[in-house]
Amino acid sequence: MRTMKRLIGGLLFLLVLSVALSVLLALTSLSSNCLETSIYKREKEPTSWGPHRLAVIVPFRDRFEELLQFVPHIHHFLNKQKVKHTIYIINQVDKLRFNRASLINVGHLLSQKDCDYLAMHDVDLLPLNPKLNYSYPENGPFHIASPEYHPKYHYSTFVGGILLLTKEQFELVNGLSNRYWGWGLEDDEFFARMKEAKLNISRPQNVNSGVHNTFKHLHDRSVRRRDTARLFNQKEETRKRDRLTGLADVKYELVSTQYITIDQAPAVLHNIKLICNYTLTPWCEHKSGNTKKML
Ligand code: UDP
Ligand code: MN
Repeated sequence: MRTMKRLIGGLLFLLVLSVALSVLLALTSLSSNCLETSIYKREKEPTSWGPHRLAVIVPFRDRFEELLQFVPHIHHFLNKQKVKHTIYIINQVDKLRFNRASLINVGHLLSQKDCDYLAMHDVDLLPLNPKLNYSYPENGPFHIASPEYHPKYHYSTFVGGILLLTKEQFELVNGLSNRYWGWGLEDDEFFARMKEAKLNISRPQNVNSGVHNTFKHLHDRSVRRRDTARLFNQKEETRKRDRLTGLADVKYELVSTQYITIDQAPAVLHNIKLICNYTLTPWCEHKSGNTKKML
């Protein structure tokens, strides 16, 4: 008798548990659907905003505080200019050295269906002057982070920071080189690509502000150290013009995609594992012994 009661009790318990579980599942799928539709659904953008859509491509790793400021700031800045846009955070989640150029190539591939032009955009550089124009650059690449106004870089061939191109212009030069692991020089090589393709690069002019108030650079170098190591023959190799690698051969795995909002500003976050060509770029890994020991 007792065992019978136990059996019935057990069965009842299982029944209640499964009902509770299915209710829970239904609720979570409902809420994730609500979440998805509210994030997927584009804010009302009047047709008067024109036919173009900008992909703001942010190469990213480990700059959470900067991201919290960047996404709402750029979203409002672009809305004020009536620029239709989607923000793509291309988050490098592998254990290799940071590769800004390859992440931008990936950003282009993952946004080309929805957008017809792109901004390569550093996460730590906020445009302050509303005269900085993010509209479709039909006459050639438009370098917003001009050396005339950038807080840190003032050499005349500088094209880093923030650079606008149409998708066609970006494809014409085969995107950026994939050889640049660690900090620097990938933007200078990209300048050479644009020059060789005879693209006409222009920059903002007469915006009535200076190096201190055109942009805000959220970069404390004691906290955000630049990876300036030069491993193997990296130094010689990365000084050369690269006619081999670029958009056409960037190798990566899309691990997952998350739709996020920060202060109600939407962004698409792609988690990316880059795949290194060790024969061509053996310097893609951190120097052994360079990784922090976990205590
Ligand atoms: N970046 C990143 N994590 C890193 C290194 C770079 O997210 O560990 C991205 C970020 O978008 C940053 C950009 O690459 O704004 C350029 O790097 P950094 O700010 O170090 O270069 P700077 O232009 O200040 O010399
Ligand atoms: Mn910086």
